[in-house]
Amino acid sequence: MPCWICATCGTQYKRSPEPPSACLICKDERQYVKHEGQRWTTLHQMQQQGYNNIIEAECPGLTAIYTSPKFPIGQRALLIHTPHGNVLWDCVTFIDAATVEKVKHDFGGIAAIVISHPHYYTSMVEWAESFQCPIMLHARDEQHVMRPSQSIRFIQEDEQQIVEGVTALRLGGHFTGSLVLHCSLPTVERPFLCTGDTIMVVPDQNPKAWVSFMYSYPNLIPLPSKEVARMRDQLAAWKFDKIYGAFKGQHVEAGAWDAVMRSADRYVGILDGNITRDFY
Ligand SMILES: [Zn+2]
Ligand SMILES: [Zn+2]
Repeated sequence: MPCWICATCGTQYKRSPEPPSACLICKDERQYVKHEGQRWTTLHQMQQQGYNNIIEAECPGLTAIYTSPKFPIGQRALLIHTPHGNVLWDCVTFIDAATVEKVKHDFGGIAAIVISHPHYYTSMVEWAESFQCPIMLHARDEQHVMRPSQSIRFIQEDEQQIVEGVTALRLGGHFTGSLVLHCSLPTVERPFLCTGDTIMVVPDQNPKAWVSFMYSYPNLIPLPSKEVARMRDQLAAWKFDKIYGAFKGQHVEAGAWDAVMRSADRYVGILDGNITRDFY
């Protein structure tokens, strides 16, 4: 019996002889079902179709893992190297023997997997079983787990240390359990945040960096201004200078704390009508 994978969002489901009747992640208003309808695949099919994972240095102390060709949302996972083991932030659906061998051989495996929110739960259980490590998810999103596992540990608090120097922070917004990961490590010169979809790194980065916040990215549903203000205020106490976003090439190179504060102020100001532009 296979574990069926939704070909639109990449979520892997628990074993069943036939595919589930629908993907609950895609039926949620934050995602979508394509015009053609629901499609399913399996890891075995993906291996036969020639998918592979690209594993490349993002910066010293940080390695990016993403699937080629792009599948399906196209996010990357980030392997954060720490003196206390590697933490995998977010996850990708595709995994094969070559990926496992390379991560074990080149980096010494994975100590823990932390995932920002349900869109990136993907085939997390396959990863956890391959690396014999726990998966840390926020308890507020437990109802979105489609393949339960003994490997999953639910974070109950709003701040949870994963290993020394790496802390998961619940900011909510996109999902009630949406996390960011704060990293302050001797291997990386400046503290940084990994943000998944909780804070989106937007294209406008020069001369000043900007980010944004949404309830749904594909369906363009914004967050209430008071929620964005709360996320901003929660992060204000943390020091970080860089942000690594969910997709290849998405990062805030410097001044990330200022970028979050400035971007949240603009978002709140425009929604509340306190910042004006020409709209009509
Ligand atoms: Zn789906
Ligand atoms: Zn998402």
